[in-house]
Amino acid sequence: MRILLIVCDGLGDRPIKELNYKTPLAAAEKPNLEKLSSVGVKGIMDTVAPGVRPGSAPAHLAIFGYDPGKYYTGRGVFEALGLGLELKEGDVVFRFNFATVDDRMVVIDRRAGRISEHTGELAKALNDISIPGVELVFKEAVEHRGVIVMRGEGLSWKVSDTDPGKTGLRVKKCEQLDPSPEALKTANLVNKIVEESYRVLKDHWVNRDRVKQGLPPANVVLPRGASILTKVEGFKERYKLKASCIAGGTLYKGLAKFVGMEVLNVPGATGTYETNYKAKVEASLKALRCFDFVFLHFKQADLAGEDGDYRRKIKVIQQIDEALKPLTFLDDTLIVVTADHSTPCSIKTHSADPVPIMICGEEVRRDDVEGFDEFKAARGGLNRIRGLDLMPILLDIVNLAEKYGA
Ligand code: ZN
Repeated sequence: MRILLIVCDGLGDRPIKELNYKTPLAAAEKPNLEKLSSVGVKGIMDTVAPGVRPGSAPAHLAIFGYDPGKYYTGRGVFEALGLGLELKEGDVVFRFNFATVDDRMVVIDRRAGRISEHTGELAKALNDISIPGVELVFKEAVEHRGVIVMRGEGLSWKVSDTDPGKTGLRVKKCEQLDPSPEALKTANLVNKIVEESYRVLKDHWVNRDRVKQGLPPANVVLPRGASILTKVEGFKERYKLKASCIAGGTLYKGLAKFVGMEVLNVPGATGTYETNYKAKVEASLKALRCFDFVFLHFKQADLAGEDGDYRRKIKVIQQIDEALKPLTFLDDTLIVVTADHSTPCSIKTHSADPVPIMICGEEVRRDDVEGFDEFKAARGGLNRIRGLDLMPILLDIVNLAEKYGA
């Protein structure tokens, strides 16, 4: 028996008046999910805990069976891993924005006009910065974003952000958030990085060109979201499962890599509305031939929720459903469909509403709930579980669980 875990990011929602108090999932036409549900047990899940509005990173860790209270030490490390950087235990990773400042370090544009071209050139120039006692790696990400890896002795992730949050204010000094000498050292290093980044970037040809075109120059980096790479036992050691991941978004690839999954690159899998749903499902089917566990991630329901667009959310759910058609008849695979959190269109952000979940397969003790949405799932035989319960339940169904006690 193999396991296919399908996470539809932000899938859960709240009743929407315009939909006659249905959720987008309840309102969507989803014949394939319904077919699948007939061989499954349904339930709802608090990925972190009841009442907690989880970020995607801690929610995924919990679903993978890793207590986020212990293993979630900031988002940056996952972004860096997802960008393909090799990290070592103890590395401190920051996310950053390219921004525009004047010569007094007053922020004029927090995103440097959402710069998206030539940020690789800028990162390359930043990689020439040398500060004694620490190794630095700068890597560009989507649009104006990037990551900084800090490697060296005596570093800490307990330091504050430098982005002042609005324009017209000076870049914030990075401060230590605990009294340790490590936090002080790291905060000083961050302040030095900000200063050096301005020196390196202000006259860079990319920025000269931008100024000529009337665009704000990306003349500084604003580090934020300090995080640290902790040691973790991967899927193989922990569960004896050879695992792989199919995702478009960097964060999800990074989370998968963190727990020892092999990240498979699928052409057209983007983590945006334009993703190739079918290619991702086909790649998952292929991956199931050589992996025991496949994590398939779809980001789009969350994007629609954050856009507050319930019509779009219905549409992406229907696109996912259509793509899942080849998965409705697999006799040797346990198929799990769930979400990492709810992203209600009405609030455009994550909520603590439990997510629907179904576990489908031949050996599953199926319930008599027909269909799959938040309301129906709440009546299912799985009842209400937490994210950390999921892996033990799956391991039991595929007979990989060990007996407790004599
Ligand atoms: Zn999410």
